[in-house]
Amino acid sequence: MKKGKEPAKVVIIGGGFVGAASAFALTMTGTAAEIVIVDTNKDKAKGEALDISHGLSMVRHQNIRDGVYEDVKGADIIIITAGSARKPGETRLDLAKKNVGIAKAIIKNIMQYYDGGIIIVVSNPVDILTKIIWQESGLPRSKVFGSGTSLDTSRYKHLLSEYYDVDVTKVNAFIIGEHGDSMVPVWSHASICGIRLDDFDKLTAKKLDKKYIEEEVRTCGAKIIQLKGATYYAIAMSISKIVEAIIMDHRTIMTASTVLSGQYGINDIAMSLPCIIGANGIEQVLDIELSENEHKSFLESADKINEVLVNAN
Ligand code: NAD
Repeated sequence: MKKGKEPAKVVIIGGGFVGAASAFALTMTGTAAEIVIVDTNKDKAKGEALDISHGLSMVRHQNIRDGVYEDVKGADIIIITAGSARKPGETRLDLAKKNVGIAKAIIKNIMQYYDGGIIIVVSNPVDILTKIIWQESGLPRSKVFGSGTSLDTSRYKHLLSEYYDVDVTKVNAFIIGEHGDSMVPVWSHASICGIRLDDFDKLTAKKLDKKYIEEEVRTCGAKIIQLKGATYYAIAMSISKIVEAIIMDHRTIMTASTVLSGQYGINDIAMSLPCIIGANGIEQVLDIELSENEHKSFLESADKINEVLVNAN
């Protein structure tokens, strides 16, 4: 891993909504000197790279371009955002099967040129694909992980900040488990600037409706898809934060989907927990103490993921 002095290179496989928005978000932070977009639709990759490049004079000099799998050579980070979206009439399992096939082909291509970067999986179903891509890559668990519930966690924080009418960056809360319906909001560790929510309720004379927040966080992605067809800005911001943490070795703490190795008795299933993210990718998975209900829900979430994994692979 290049740290600090050498210019960083990021390769994005898939230049659709999420891939292009991620390239844009990364360009705005300036963490990477070179961003390469690879897509089977070569015109799309070229068009997105050109469009972003035309704004570089407003920020800083960077090399944003389209490319091929060979560009994986020398990449510090490889982000996988390629995949098919769910078609009308298609089940989640059908989609999972289709994207597992795409993911296997992609990781095979990546590994032909791979020489040491961190692989971040974003395509859905992200927990399933993280496990498959990790398995097929043969790399350590720390080097292949998924964006997991980083987006759900950010949505959860936003909802809490709206409810209490306070700065969203002062909300400490996270969602673990599946990036999907069985996600688990960890109320037992949620706070506003270290003040537990029960205490914050007293200070603000409010009574938080946890069921409402849980329902909102589970369904808001689908609502956005209904409104505009896809979600991409918030996940792009999340990806940009993860990339920054790796390149700058921030050892930031975010939820990410990693292939578990015994945490809560779970093995070889990728699902989200808070993680320390730094130059080596996942520096540590934080298997914090959960309430009895949260623990039970986390185990149920693992079962749900495993069910799809077994049937889709
Ligand atoms: P999109 O259809 O706009 O883009 C997908 C791109 O992948 C297309 O440009 C397509 O040409 C490309 N592609 C397909 N197969 C490829 C291959 N083998 N190699 C290279 N490129 C290939 O979709 P999108 O809205 O950008 O979403 C991409 C993925 O991200 C989906 O799976 C979506 O569900 C997922 N997503 C994940 C999160 C999250 O929180 N993890 C959030 C939003 C979207």
